[in-house]
Amino acid sequence: MTDRLSPNLANLKASETVAISAEARRRKAAGEDVLDLGVGEPDFDTPSAAAQAGIQAIQQGHTRYPPNTGIAELRRAIAGHLSALSGGRPVDAERVIISSGSKQSLFNACFSLFGPKDKVLIPSPAWVSYPQIVHLSRAEPVMVPGSLEWGLKVSVKDLDAHDRLVRGLIICSPCNPTGAVYTKSEIRAIAEWARDRGIWIIADEIYRRIHYGDGPAASFLDLPDDLLERVVIIAGASKAYAMTGWRIGAAYAPDHLVKAMAALQSHVTTGANHPAMLAAATAFSDPRVEADVVRMVAAFRKRRDLLVERFRASAPGVEYVEPHGAFYFFFRVDGISAGLGGGDFCTRLMQEEGVALVPGAAFGDDRWVRLSYAVSEVELGQALDRIFRFIARLASSRAA
Ligand code: PMP
Repeated sequence: MTDRLSPNLANLKASETVAISAEARRRKAAGEDVLDLGVGEPDFDTPSAAAQAGIQAIQQGHTRYPPNTGIAELRRAIAGHLSALSGGRPVDAERVIISSGSKQSLFNACFSLFGPKDKVLIPSPAWVSYPQIVHLSRAEPVMVPGSLEWGLKVSVKDLDAHDRLVRGLIICSPCNPTGAVYTKSEIRAIAEWARDRGIWIIADEIYRRIHYGDGPAASFLDLPDDLLERVVIIAGASKAYAMTGWRIGAAYAPDHLVKAMAALQSHVTTGANHPAMLAAATAFSDPRVEADVVRMVAAFRKRRDLLVERFRASAPGVEYVEPHGAFYFFFRVDGISAGLGGGDFCTRLMQEEGVALVPGAAFGDDRWVRLSYAVSEVELGQALDRIFRFIARLASSRAA
């Protein structure tokens, strides 16, 4: 017998990116030759100084309930880190709250701020979980398509096309799935627009360190205080520190919101994993880990360059978003073969060539496909050979 489920889950869909990775893993385990470029996590191991700090934390008995908002060492380390990335601006550790992954930080922020009748703008294409988390908060996600000539980013003009019930905006830079990065002046314009309308901004900056310009990507934290009264910054250990499995994320938010999120979390998780927080405190503050991050970002940059060069040379007609950060490459498939969607492209690519990519439908636009280059250069090279072979076949069947 199946009983009804709560209306809380009325709009819930399981994460499509997680499902694709699971399918690629299943095929690999069955002995198939599969290259998984669907993954959303670094292929590097956790920097050893951070891993050691985690091991030591367990050995030293830091295995009891942690403080609900996070251990002081980690809150201070993240505050110091955010401050350093933004030219030494003051960042109050009391306003940093730690969660079980930045996914939970995003959930806490949305659930604490939004509710029935609220609209939340989400520049599209967007990471799969934003609309789902907004639905779980019983608010309404409103997707705002980005402009093609602007790397699929949105401008104030795009945002302004929406009506008055807007309570929030979730913006991701560097962006998953496109790799686009908002400049400081674009960020400032959006922050001013939101401040003038009393709209909350949730700025997902989890990929901030993985940036191919000079220094870290521009941040809302680079703005003066009067623009930050309704801004939540999301950070985390997963991406830049290759610590996805440790599940440590953070939000930096105004005082009253931190208190609300803390109360919410106190009934949901009682705070994040204790030893993992000690490992992350080392990650966010130890110069040896910083050196590892510099090496990892350099490796991502090299792969990005290789990928862009090969796309230009081997698939010159294929449109893509110029990647400036994160480790994703977003390219357009509807021009390759008439009527072809990202879903069909990915299904056939998996069946015919054994390469896993994520259809753009997962991010709100099925004319596109996302490739993750968080894989070794060798695997990336092999996957590209197969992808170009497949694209050539599609194009020649169109010509025939
Ligand atoms: N935000 C974005 C844009 C992401 O891509 C991810 C992970 N795929 C997350 C948040 C969540 O990361 P975590 O929960 O591991 O911190």
